[in-house]
Amino acid sequence: KRRPFVAGNWKMNGSNELVDSFSLKLASNPAVDVVICPPAVYLSKFSHAEFDIGAQNASEFASGAHTGEISLGMISEAGCKYVILGHSERREGHAESNEIVARKVKAAIAAGLTPIICVGEPLEVRESGNVFAFVKAQLDAVANECGADYIKNSVIAYEPIWAIGTGKTASPEQAQEVHAFIRKELAALDTQAAASVRLLYGGSVNAANAKELFAKPDIDGGLIGGASLKIEDFTTICQAA
Ligand code: 13P
Repeated sequence: KRRPFVAGNWKMNGSNELVDSFSLKLASNPAVDVVICPPAVYLSKFSHAEFDIGAQNASEFASGAHTGEISLGMISEAGCKYVILGHSERREGHAESNEIVARKVKAAIAAGLTPIICVGEPLEVRESGNVFAFVKAQLDAVANECGADYIKNSVIAYEPIWAIGTGKTASPEQAQEVHAFIRKELAALDTQAAASVRLLYGGSVNAANAKELFAKPDIDGGLIGGASLKIEDFTTICQAA
């Protein structure tokens, strides 16, 4: 049985006040890996928390003239175990190609971090029936850059873009179908790693729908946006995993 995993992606939200209240009130859960991914400026403030922390993005480069960027080494020094890579808001809003995401994954693993690799299709791909091909291309780019070894060092999140921040969750059946596809694709590279890699669902997960989603056989937890900003809701979601 895979250990459940729930990560909160705060995106560009939060404040000193929210950080302090999570540090005080969010308890670790002995049965679930709980991770908070706040904006990078808050990472160090969390480094003594009971739960793990992750960054929302990182540079593929180790250092140098990259104004505004943050390296994986810095993220690690700030106390992170994880880094979200390839979120659709990075892919779409900051022109991160499949290849750039793949290079970041390679650099993250080399830096000793566990990437939370996001994949998922926009609405027009869902409507044209090409979801599997779209997600496969995203995964193949990572395998081409990193080899099959990345699987045992990663967590993978399926986040259909049409479900992010829209209140429109994928049905548990829709999510499970893609999760099973992802696990099958990974199994073609490494059967054992594919059986143990945690696959998260993300997209309008909330305290009311989490349990039903997490009950599906290939859904091992969630990547939570809006609902991760409310400690009660996020705690309920962690308990559902
Ligand atoms: P929402 O939970 O707000 O839909 O966001 C999901 C997400 O993008 C997490 O990375």
